[in-house]
Amino acid sequence: MKLEAHLIDKIRFIRRIYFAATNQSRVNAKLAKVKERVPDCFPMAIANFSIDYELFWGNAYEHGSAMSDEKRIEHALIARSNSFSFYALLEEIKMHCSWSVLGKLIDPDIVPPSELQFAPLWADSNWYRKPASDRTTYESFEFIKLLSSSPRLEILSHGFAHIDFADISVTKELAREDLKIAKDLLQDFASTEKVFFYPCNKPKYEDAAYDLGYRITRGADARWHMPKNGLIKTPVGFWISPAMLSLNDAKKIVDSGIKNKEFIHPWMHLFELNLKADDLNRFYRPLFLYLQAQEKAGNLEIITFENIEKRISAMNGN
Ligand SMILES: [Zn+2]
Repeated sequence: MKLEAHLIDKIRFIRRIYFAATNQSRVNAKLAKVKERVPDCFPMAIANFSIDYELFWGNAYEHGSAMSDEKRIEHALIARSNSFSFYALLEEIKMHCSWSVLGKLIDPDIVPPSELQFAPLWADSNWYRKPASDRTTYESFEFIKLLSSSPRLEILSHGFAHIDFADISVTKELAREDLKIAKDLLQDFASTEKVFFYPCNKPKYEDAAYDLGYRITRGADARWHMPKNGLIKTPVGFWISPAMLSLNDAKKIVDSGIKNKEFIHPWMHLFELNLKADDLNRFYRPLFLYLQAQEKAGNLEIITFENIEKRISAMNGN
């Protein structure tokens, strides 16, 4: 009996060491993604929290093939039911946040001409079809209108139909068509016409985006890319979720970003939010309050992508 208790203690100890080590490597991996210093036009660290808002049309690629409609609808339903709570928290504590929004959510009936439709080899159904489900899983006109009424929220383009710009099947013309449809649909809602986030952070055909008036995007690596007459790419930042990271570790990432004068850029999707586990009050609220307190103390600036672009362009003499 005594030996058994001893063994159990030993197993518990090993498990604790193991989890501490894997947790530390997760934190290190996230820290590595914010390691480049901000450009000289920023006197201190900068921070931006963003949400990719896409409902049914989000990432549809899973293990080499298309994700099932059932799973996409399930994600959409969770995202939809979380969206108002998240919005209410942001408004309550006056937190700035960037929302990258898909054109499809404004008008899911629009379909590009057949030769300009996304049709990757890994998906065998029509990319632009509406799912057989309640419209609130694929359309979100009213919510986007609500978002755009807040002066603190930045609404930017996430493209029209969440295509993979880097997929081998995508031509420059197809990429341009997707960007153009989204631009037209978002013009009454977007707070800026200069910011576009590539789906799944896969930049390609940057010149097509630049020609349409976009000036900045979230890049795919940890570096700043600031061409003189081209699309600016910020460091990719990191996906944030209380399922992966404790609040303390998230604060450590903020602290490290402040210390090294970096771009602290966490982003997420609303289907990852677990209201039953009280993620809002246990994780996001204290994290946002922490960021705001750091800003108030003069340690960082919470900033929009539009403002990042403005400052870099002024520095570049554009
Ligand atoms: Zn996305």
